[in-house]
Amino acid sequence: MQVSFDGLVLKRTQIVGGKSLLTVLTDDFGKITLGVPAGYVGKGRSSLGIKTFSLTRYDGYKHGNIFNMSRAQVIESFFHIGQDVEKFYLGSVAVELTDLTTLEGEKNPRLLSLLTEFMKALNDRDKDPLILLIAYELHLIDNMGIMPQLDKCGICGNEKSLKLIGISSGHAICNKCHDELKRSGNNNIDIQIWNNLKISEDFDIIESIKYLKRLEFKDLKNIRLKADKAEEFQSFIRRYILYHLNIEELKSDALDIKRLLNDSHDGR
Ligand SMILES: [Zn+2]
Repeated sequence: MQVSFDGLVLKRTQIVGGKSLLTVLTDDFGKITLGVPAGYVGKGRSSLGIKTFSLTRYDGYKHGNIFNMSRAQVIESFFHIGQDVEKFYLGSVAVELTDLTTLEGEKNPRLLSLLTEFMKALNDRDKDPLILLIAYELHLIDNMGIMPQLDKCGICGNEKSLKLIGISSGHAICNKCHDELKRSGNNNIDIQIWNNLKISEDFDIIESIKYLKRLEFKDLKNIRLKADKAEEFQSFIRRYILYHLNIEELKSDALDIKRLLNDSHDGR
């Protein structure tokens, strides 16, 4: 069957014979594996269609669940992401997490538009882009169906003085229950994870999530978070997602990108 669809590349795998396989998040078919013919490089802009950070229209064939590409035409390229080490790192984390949190063939047109909006915003952002990744990760948490319950303490039901979020239990924990859990010998898994995060006393993670959840990417244009607060926010969100995915670390964090990023910060 001949098909045409829009998509964003999440991953590219080289296989034998010069052929490559793309993992693509599409509008009509959800996440798919797309075969790219051996030797396909595309001319000029169309070569971007088989790389990450471009929204692309694909033409090809579908046999059962197998897709093969015949043509890729770039609709919009977010090329600034590839030109800046920090943006490249954040964009790589976003696509890797999207890949990890979605199942092949499960339709999700809203996720494609969210990832596209994220890339557009990241592409255009001048300063402090981390807030965009945090906002996108919140969308992923929502999409995974694991958004923490934040309106009341999940242990006693108290709606006031909420202090932290239990990462394993997925709900807010109030001051009183936090103190009690600590007194009971600190064996509670949520308290242990939380202590390892080293989130400062004055950072209100619960209000920050509620605030950011209300905003769309276009609203984030003029919003800045202090660098240290953004880092704390990110360490919580990342721990939350990885805990629920049952993985320790992202490939993007293990790669040289992180080292390049540190080098570029040192050089400033
Ligand atoms: Zn409580």
